[in-house]
Amino acid sequence: MKKILGTAAAMLLSLGAFAQNEISYTVSFPNAIHHEAEVSMLIPNVPAGTLTVRMSRSSPGRYATHEFGKNVYSLKAFDGSGKELALNQSAGDVYEIPNHGKSVKITYTIFGNWIDGTYAGFDETHAHMNIPATFAFPIGMDNRARLVKFNYSEKQNWKVATQLKPMGNDTYYAANLQYFMDSPTEIANYKTASWQVKNTDGKMQTIHLVSHSNDDQKTVDNYAVMLKKMVGEHLAVWGEFPNYDYGNYYFLHDVYPDNAGDGMEHRNSTIIVQRTPKIDGYESNLLGTFSHEYFHSWNVERLRPKTLEPFNFTHSNMSNELWLAEGFTQYYGALLLTRAGFKTVENAAQTFNGLVNAVLNSPGVKNYSPIQASRYAVFADAGVAIDQTNKGNIFLSYYTYGAATALALDLRLRADFKLTLDDYMRALWKAYGKPEIAYTVPDLEKTLGVLTKNPSFAADFFKRYIYGIEKSDYAKLLLNAGFVLRKANPGKAYTGLMRLSFENGKATLPQSTGGTPVYQAGLDVGDVLLTVDGVEIKDQASLTKVTEAHKPGDVVDVTYTYRGEAKSTKLTFAENPALEIVSIEKTGGSLTKDMQTFRDSWLNTQVKLK
Ligand SMILES: [Zn+2]
Repeated sequence: MKKILGTAAAMLLSLGAFAQNEISYTVSFPNAIHHEAEVSMLIPNVPAGTLTVRMSRSSPGRYATHEFGKNVYSLKAFDGSGKELALNQSAGDVYEIPNHGKSVKITYTIFGNWIDGTYAGFDETHAHMNIPATFAFPIGMDNRARLVKFNYSEKQNWKVATQLKPMGNDTYYAANLQYFMDSPTEIANYKTASWQVKNTDGKMQTIHLVSHSNDDQKTVDNYAVMLKKMVGEHLAVWGEFPNYDYGNYYFLHDVYPDNAGDGMEHRNSTIIVQRTPKIDGYESNLLGTFSHEYFHSWNVERLRPKTLEPFNFTHSNMSNELWLAEGFTQYYGALLLTRAGFKTVENAAQTFNGLVNAVLNSPGVKNYSPIQASRYAVFADAGVAIDQTNKGNIFLSYYTYGAATALALDLRLRADFKLTLDDYMRALWKAYGKPEIAYTVPDLEKTLGVLTKNPSFAADFFKRYIYGIEKSDYAKLLLNAGFVLRKANPGKAYTGLMRLSFENGKATLPQSTGGTPVYQAGLDVGDVLLTVDGVEIKDQASLTKVTEAHKPGDVVDVTYTYRGEAKSTKLTFAENPALEIVSIEKTGGSLTKDMQTFRDSWLNTQVKLK
């Protein structure tokens, strides 16, 4: 995606070179009320031999396979004179046209009623299109340019928002398949607010907030002011803006309670779908996704793992680097909201607390490294599965694992090298991001060695915490900033049964987490808990009560049913392993001047006021 695009010269060249070869789509929405769109695709200069057309099975920004072919039907092929051609559906999402002339037109109906960053949705208020979920493409023509025309004249006040290049007359251009697939498009009666930013080279670019929501213009304008402040903190980390293609970056925002919801990054835009009634009243709650996705316009869109290049539309790419691509983005997404003043230092401590608890207490990290967690993304990222997996015991999200790694590295660089993770991100940006050279894990290690002037530190850090499964000394690291990491419930008994699901008064185990007392007692998912220490478990409170009546090390009888059969076992209470991060002031300790300075330079604004 990165190599072919970019400069205006390359665009002109490709336009000239492929002017006869462009694949042209038209899309219309005559049955939007029932969530259908009609797509036609004209392919000129079709080479001799069977023409194969397919739907994608993956989407930029997602790491698992999705079956977009399931919502395509009534697919037909025609030759240049309009005569219908015979076709063979050789797989669910693959169509072969063995005999054809010079040009082929494909038409089909696409259904979409899932509003998020991955799928498509059509109704009377909008056409919300993730491109891989909407557009079929011919095999072997990835370098051909695409033109897409949207027909929506019957819809009141609809307008198009997309990172695609506008060509006039509701027609948009992409230089090749990779860019096209990366360019989600929203057509709606949305509201916009935009502002200009000046890059270090003096070039002006425009950032747009496009909101399809039930808010008034004033709310959207005010939200753009908040985003502008957030963007300032992002710029302070990286030192410069990316060069957005055509000089624009778009936040494509869709807010409605029935939405599916998520955020998806793209090269010059992001789709952010949220489930509140409006923006108004929820402004700061909605910011986290904005901050995360915007960070991606550097980290992943340009500072990009080699394993994601080129993006494979028939099967998800396997990546070793999502702990950095997603995890470091997750860390900064939250941190920069604190720096921008939208979240408090207490909020930041709570976020770090979640990360540290997960990375020190989840069974999924005991035997698996951040790299291995990244590789599991092909299954974890909304992959297609209805059967049970052992995810809870063998996996911790690369978002969480990576963010906890970013936290440790940031504190380590600050404490031991008088450097920061911002310095590291800028070094990676200079070496790989700005020149758009896809990186590998050894490249990341090398850059850390150069930055710290200590390659053996970098080698050791990667060996232990990236390739390996060791965990950093978070208590020691956090104390530098005057935060105390300690047991949240010292001396309190614990079963490992966080929450039971109650159906018809039956207490059913929703999970059995490795290493916990219930796991060791032989209890498993689906078992029905009857009594603990003679007490009938009829609700969560009865389990809490019996747990609180014991101390770690106590052994009690448990009765339960396993596949309908009554059984009993012994359970040994452990000490509650939950941790908490508390500012040292709140523990009765004193915040030293060094701690205060460390904390401020980490969590306070980095925007230099002129
Ligand atoms: Zn992300």
